Amino acid sequence: MHGHQAVRDAIREHRLLCVNDTFRFLEWSTPDGCATCRPAINYYLISTWPKLARDDPQSRFINERSHANIQKDGTYSVVPRMWGGETTADELRRIADVVDKYAIPTVKVTGGQRIDLLGVRKEDLQGVWNDIGMPCGHAYAKALRTVKTCVGSEWCRMGTQDSTQLGKDLEHAMWRMYAPHKVKFAVSGCPRNCAESGIKDVGIIGVDSGWEMYVGGNGGIKTEVAQFFTKLKTAEEVMEYTGAFMQLYRLEGWYLERTVHYLARVGLDYVKRRILDDEAGRKALWADLQAALEGEPDPWFETRRAAVDTRQFIPILAAATGAGTHTTEITA
Ligand code: SF4
Repeated sequence: MHGHQAVRDAIREHRLLCVNDTFRFLEWSTPDGCATCRPAINYYLISTWPKLARDDPQSRFINERSHANIQKDGTYSVVPRMWGGETTADELRRIADVVDKYAIPTVKVTGGQRIDLLGVRKEDLQGVWNDIGMPCGHAYAKALRTVKTCVGSEWCRMGTQDSTQLGKDLEHAMWRMYAPHKVKFAVSGCPRNCAESGIKDVGIIGVDSGWEMYVGGNGGIKTEVAQFFTKLKTAEEVMEYTGAFMQLYRLEGWYLERTVHYLARVGLDYVKRRILDDEAGRKALWADLQAALEGEPDPWFETRRAAVDTRQFIPILAAATGAGTHTTEITA
């Protein structure tokens, strides 16, 4: 038996770069691991050694392998990314055309200010991504999902800060960020808090003097109210403090541990010491996160270039008869 921390320590101290090396080094009881340990180890590898560790698709859940959420009837849901919840007429037109072309039965606005296309057949996924031409929303992944915003000072009479722009900036900076669990942000332009920043992993609220930052909230089975973390003056500070907190969580959180549970384990005071009191450490964490995300591919774009194994998108029958480019189906 190996605990989460022991596995993380071994990966870091012994520069383990792939799942099988980790199993061998730790003399794992089952040589190929199982559905519980493989995703955790894969996450620890890629978060500890970005750009170096080998991401193993077979160690990811089916949703992450397919880059879409499997639904109860075996079809998938597709959620394109809408930066800070904003969209355009052109994007909406493309979404509408995709819905017609692929006969997608349900279109739903999510609670995270995005559009969910439900009932997409697996063999249509690549076509849908291609035709929509929008970035992946990672709605299926242990990663940054939505950054919810209110309209803020640009349009709202009550707005004191430009929450939409800050939300878009945060999302552009941190999308493609895998984490121990799903991560959601929100930015509200004034204390009326229309973006519900109080129940997000990082919630930002505009005030007259700048911004208030809250951490460790979530909706879910047990709603957790985020804790006040600090007051900041500028949007640049919000980016830095949010990025540093996320990187600390990425490096220290255990797989499937939400921020609220990470904070309960290590203590809010510890995180404050690391982020608020240690300026050099905070800047280093933020720099490390930016370096880790630099050049990371959009998984939908990656599949458009056929840089990943696309066998999983070919129906079994077509594969068996030789149609398509491969002959086997990856099992779920
Ligand atoms: S939070 Fe404030 S600024 Fe944002 S929409 Fe609500 S009232 Fe307006």
